[in-house]
Amino acid sequence: MALLPIIKLDDPVLRKKAVRVTSFGPDFQRLVDDMVETMIAAPGVGLAAPQVNVSQRLIVVRLSDDEDSRKEFGDLAGKLFVVVNPKIIKTSRTLVDGVEACLSIPGYAGTVFRHEQVVITGEDRHGKPIRIKAKDWLARVFQHEIDHLDGRLFIDIAEEIWDTRSKPADGEAAKEDGAEAGERQAS
Ligand SMILES: [Zn+2]
Repeated sequence: MALLPIIKLDDPVLRKKAVRVTSFGPDFQRLVDDMVETMIAAPGVGLAAPQVNVSQRLIVVRLSDDEDSRKEFGDLAGKLFVVVNPKIIKTSRTLVDGVEACLSIPGYAGTVFRHEQVVITGEDRHGKPIRIKAKDWLARVFQHEIDHLDGRLFIDIAEEIWDTRSKPADGEAAKEDGAEAGERQAS
């Protein structure tokens, strides 16, 4: 396994529509392993293949498994999701706003409205069909990562964006930033 360099905002690969994965051979398996290692080392809770300069429809997601996360997410804390050719097939009507950051856009965070719940279909790393129901923070991470596959970044749809290295003027934003962008990390 190897750590892969994470592509930053000014690279056009982040804006391309990624292509479907059709080969699940050894090279692809290595890519999955490397992406998981890269995400955990970053540290982040999600990573999409375009972020490591591979324009293919593959995402990995893993919520933190520290004590707070285990309390909040139960069995989902530390659970690894590898989703190939993911597709959101169902969304809740309810939208919720929350704070997001991105490993490709270091130093920034923003508030984004996302569906509270989503149902995702796709394939596992060996091409077997899978279906995932996600809500709240996990649903947000999936939506953020799947957006990457279509060249969309959170800064495109954020209501507000701020520099996390400087103190936001708004007291509440500062608190949220610490709680979400800081502890929960970027994807
Ligand atoms: Zn991202």
